[in-house]
Amino acid sequence: MSYEIEKFDPEIFEAIEKELTRQNDHLEMIASENFTLPAVMEAMGSVLTNKYAEGYPGKRYYGGCENADKVEQIAIDRVCKLFDCKFANVQPHSGSQANGAVYAALLKPYDKILGMDLSHGGHLTHGSKPSFSGKNYQSFTYGVELDGRINYDKVMEIAKTVQPKIIVCGASAYAREIDFKKFREIADEVGAILFADVAHIAGLVVAGEHMSPFPYADVVTTTTHKTLAGPRGGAIMTNDEDIAKKINSAIFPGLQGGPLVHVIAAKAVGFKHNLSPEWKEYAKNVKANASKLAEVLVARGYDVVSGGTDNHLVLVSFLNKEFSGKDADAALGAAGITVNKNTVPGETRSPFVTSGIRIGSPALTSRGMGVKEFEWIANKIADVLDNINDSALHAKIKEEVKELASNFIIYDKPIY
Ligand SMILES: *Cc1c(COP(=O)(O)O)cnc(C)c1O
Repeated sequence: MSYEIEKFDPEIFEAIEKELTRQNDHLEMIASENFTLPAVMEAMGSVLTNKYAEGYPGKRYYGGCENADKVEQIAIDRVCKLFDCKFANVQPHSGSQANGAVYAALLKPYDKILGMDLSHGGHLTHGSKPSFSGKNYQSFTYGVELDGRINYDKVMEIAKTVQPKIIVCGASAYAREIDFKKFREIADEVGAILFADVAHIAGLVVAGEHMSPFPYADVVTTTTHKTLAGPRGGAIMTNDEDIAKKINSAIFPGLQGGPLVHVIAAKAVGFKHNLSPEWKEYAKNVKANASKLAEVLVARGYDVVSGGTDNHLVLVSFLNKEFSGKDADAALGAAGITVNKNTVPGETRSPFVTSGIRIGSPALTSRGMGVKEFEWIANKIADVLDNINDSALHAKIKEEVKELASNFIIYDKPIY
């Protein structure tokens, strides 16, 4: 197989080829990553990228949008079916853009946002100071207890004091089920809008493997590339027609220009995958694999935050260890296992060093690995952590990891 890009731009092609090798040889355990279908990548590489389609299906500012209309309407219909909701906007270029649109649609500058603290597992866009969400709005936070769980009574107290215009629920590093019903009660108590950001857990939600944010949340955002395993992008869902109209105006012309029609097509293909009977099986396996990981790490003496997991990720704390999250991340990297350092409840180190790691199961589950492989991997992770300075052992494990990975190849070429 030869590609145009191979001749036209060998430098970039070489990097793409090396990335394929990296993805094949390593064990990808970053909880926000996944492997998408070749069919999704084909849609992203299609001629749809050439089309300007500002506006929405049937209401465009450019001619020649009949195919773009079809693609976008199918994506909308499929995501509404997945989440069992009435309205959706599939144009956000990313999860952050989706969240920006929610605020732009429903808040005025300096209105109050109450979201989960970044260092407790929340996302930058939930009111963190370096993000637009913490600059353009007055942001307040809730967090987790030392046991790693949200205390809903405390969130209620904070909400009563803050009186936020909007409450954001959803997280990037939280291993337990999020109780959207309880958040609804809190929002009702203080008259706030409830905004659920299911970027991390959407793939479980649409399979019935995590409580749905509907009918509790007023508005819901997601990424399409994390547990949903689609192309990189975002989506916004609601059952409220008035909110839906405001969201559409906030995305275009508010925040974005022309939609990425090729990515919307890829989202539609991804949603078709999520609607298939196999998807339910996948989501069950994602959870079973993460549980196995937590179980082995606990058995090996590691401090798993909250003692286990209800979803696709496991947080491990090294508060009681000599080494940091950064050290663990580097040692596991040397062993061919990719994770990320993460703050943990009761954090004592800086955000650049941290006392924990976050480990996820979605990507390796997409490669076809099951509990048997996850048990093996979890033991290798513990071997590395038990011998954090033994670089010879890390190199040996890297070879073993490569051997395991070679049995679970999902892409046979770098470009689809
Ligand atoms: C990943 C994530 C986002 C942002 O998604 P991007 O596509 O990276 O902008 C938003 N919210 C949560 C909870 C996330 O985990």
